[in-house]
Amino acid sequence: MVARQLCWFSAREKGLPGRRCDLEAGMAKLLGARVAWSNADNALQIHGGNGYAQEYEISRVLCDARILNIFEGAAEIQAQVIARRLLSDAN
Ligand SMILES: Cc1cc2nc3c(=O)[nH]c(=O)nc-3n(C[C@H](O)[C@H](O)[C@H](O)COP(=O)(O)OP(=O)(O)OC[C@H]3O[C@@H](n4cnc5c(N)ncnc54)[C@H](O)[C@@H]3O)c2cc1C
Repeated sequence: MVARQLCWFSAREKGLPGRRCDLEAGMAKLLGARVAWSNADNALQIHGGNGYAQEYEISRVLCDARILNIFEGAAEIQAQVIARRLLSDAN
């Protein structure tokens, strides 16, 4: 829910002239990726051992959720973007 709100907020900021949204977009990306991974992990857990088998769709969901923390800005890079903005705004 929070990730979605951050995403909508970032998109709205991006659409306005002269406004930057790297802080909120970085937060949305980082949080969204973490939530997706956590949810996929929980969903696989519910399926037990079968969830790990490739015959079940959930193993693919877990694999797809994992890459969200890597491409389009890896988690560590998003964290750096967020920290840099927060620290520069604090000064
Ligand atoms: C399925 C898939 C599709 C892709 N599609 C595209 C695409 O369409 N367009 C495109 O441009 N790219 C695409 N990529 C590439 C993707 O954007 C990169 O994989 C991503 O940017 C990470 O770079 P890397 O794999 O070289 O990892 P690296 O940069 O080598 O990073 C490895 C690890 O080190 C960490 N790390 C790296 N630098 C730092 C640092 N300074 N501080 C702290 N930690 C750090 C990273 O967070 C990561 O955990 C795709 C990748 C995949 C797997």
